Parts: sequence; C-alpha cells; structure tokens
Amino acid sequence: MHVSVVVPIYNERDNVEPLCDALRNSLGPSAHDYELILVDDGSTDGTRERLRGLAAEREEVRLVELRRNYGQTAAMSAGLEFACRPGLPEGAVVTIDGDLQNDPADIPLVVDKLAEGYGMVHGWRRNRQDKWLSRKLPSLLANRLISWSTGFKCRDLGCTLKAIRRDIAADLRLYGEMHRFIPIMVHWHGARCTEIPTHHHPRLHGESKYGIGRTFGVLMDLVTIVYLTRFSQNPMRLFGGLGAVATLLGGAMGVVSLAMKLFGGADLTGNPLLYAGCFAGLAGLQLLLMGMIAEMASRTLYESQGSRPYAIESTAGFGAQEPLPGRA
Ligand code: UDP
Ligand code: MG
Repeated sequence: MHVSVVVPIYNERDNVEPLCDALRNSLGPSAHDYELILVDDGSTDGTRERLRGLAAEREEVRLVELRRNYGQTAAMSAGLEFACRPGLPEGAVVTIDGDLQNDPADIPLVVDKLAEGYGMVHGWRRNRQDKWLSRKLPSLLANRLISWSTGFKCRDLGCTLKAIRRDIAADLRLYGEMHRFIPIMVHWHGARCTEIPTHHHPRLHGESKYGIGRTFGVLMDLVTIVYLTRFSQNPMRLFGGLGAVATLLGGAMGVVSLAMKLFGGADLTGNPLLYAGCFAGLAGLQLLLMGMIAEMASRTLYESQGSRPYAIESTAGFGAQEPLPGRA
C-alpha cells in the first residue's frame, strides 16, 4: 500500500529529527511505500530551518510551509490536501502528531488493519500520558458527550494517530477544531471504522500548545456537526423544540406565580427569583440560539466559498509536481 504520513508541526525544533528517524525506522522495513508530508504551521523557533534541511537530505520527506500559524486542524487539512493530490496510487493517509507522543512504531499496525477493509482505523490511547484534570478528564467528558449526541461509539476521538483510505480522506473538509471529528465524519459518509489500542508517551521536548480553553471551541464544533448531520433536513426541529421547552417553562412559571398570588396571597413585587428565572430562561435561551445560528452561518459561508483555512508559503520535496495546490 502507498502510505502518506501527514504531520502538523508547530514549534517542535527538537522533535523533528527524532520524528523523521522514528518514522523511517517504522515504515522503512514495512512492505509499504511511503512519504512524509510535514506541514510547518508557522513555527518561529527554528523548526522551519530544520525541516528544510530534512527535506533536502531525505528522499521521503516533503515539506509544506504555511504563511503563519493557523492551528493544528488547518495544518492537518493542508497536509491532507497534499496527501490526496492527483497522481498517487490508492492507499492510506496516516495522521500523527509531531511531538512523538503518538508512537510512529504503531503506524504499520493501523495501516495493516485498514487493509482488512476499513475506511478508517483510529488509535485509542489506552494509557494516555497527559495531565488528568486539565486534559484527560475534559477528553473523557467530551468523548462521552460526543458518543451520546452522535450515536457513534468511540473511546478516543482526540487521538491524532489514524489511517484513512485515501479516497475517503480526499472528501474531508476541516476547520475549527474539527480534526477530532474526523472519525464521525467518515462514519457518516458510510465507511467502516474501527479503533485499536496504540501507545502514548509523555512529551520529551517542547510544550503542549493547548490548555483547557480548547474545550469551548470543540463544543461549538460539536454543535455544528450534530446540526449538519442530524438536523440539516429540518433545522426548525432543533430550534422549535428548544423554543417549545422555553415557552412551556415560561408558561408554567406564569401559572405558578398567578396561583401563588391568587391562592397564597404572595406578594411577587420585587421577587428576585422571578426576575432571575425570566432573564436566565428567556434571554439566555435567545442568546444561545442566536449564537448557534451565527456559528452555523459562519460555517455555511466557509463551506459555500470553498476557501481553504490556510495559505501556503512554499513547498519542497514534491519534485516535478511542484508547485502544488493551495498556493494563495
Ligand atoms: N500543532 C500545530 N499547530 C498548532 C498547534 C499544534 O501544527 O497551532 C501541532 C503540534 O506541533 C503537534 C500536534 O499539533 O505536532 C499536537 O499538538 P500538541 O502536542 O501541542 O497537542 P496535545 O498533544 O497537547 O494535544
Ligand atoms: Mg502532544
């Protein structure tokens, strides 16, 4: 099988060389043809220079340099576009982190599993080596919420190590923090997916680019994903349903207040609970729905324009095929 390994890289100066070595050690002896598509996501710590050196020295390395830092999803999306360029044979696209937290030695495992007839195989970090409170717990909750709301059972959506059939990868459109929803998108496109346990290591060099703040973006992406897939036929069901619940709650509050006044003789003037309830219930719901509509409108705009969420500065290592797609 022909394997294109896509790696988004941002300020990983001390990781890139060991990474390329590890990928060579893992894929070199395997039966697969392979290339490494390293996407430099606007690094500022000298990573870019090292990557250029690697692209010049090693035949299997291709380099895509983005103009600035666009984020992991955009960088991955750029890599996927190159991994699905015309002229490549059928095969697999593998995504993996550039910090060696995923183990390159696991790549043949996911690729061989893919060859059994799956559209996607994703890793499950059974022994995830990250902080519990700030990383593992939010992930656990997010995975549960996502499984529950999408009906797609998955233990570790956040694991970057995945193998995707090339023709399926070519259909993916990613923005926001959506790289973590790839398994759901692939599943909804009707492909067979499975997960296998993979290794996970603590970071040796550099720092994680993320904190707990990312969870919010992930939740907004979830809203869009659920909306686009479940409610796209009839969006008013979602809004109508929430609106109906709010109306019922408001109505019930009105009836209770009236009863309290008529039968209990209660004085409702200045009752802070009443105001707080009305405000939180109605204003909050209105704002929530407006926010969701705004989120969806912006995503629809993104999709309809067909624009890429990144601009490419230059590429190297693609040989006669250069220059390549995405040059803005
Ligand atoms: N990354 C990127 N652009 C960014 C942030 C991260 O390309 O803006 C890359 C990063 O270099 C690494 C991968 O995405 O290869 C995962 O990032 P990180 O290790 O910081 O995430 P974590 O493992 O903490 O979830
Ligand atoms: Mg990491």
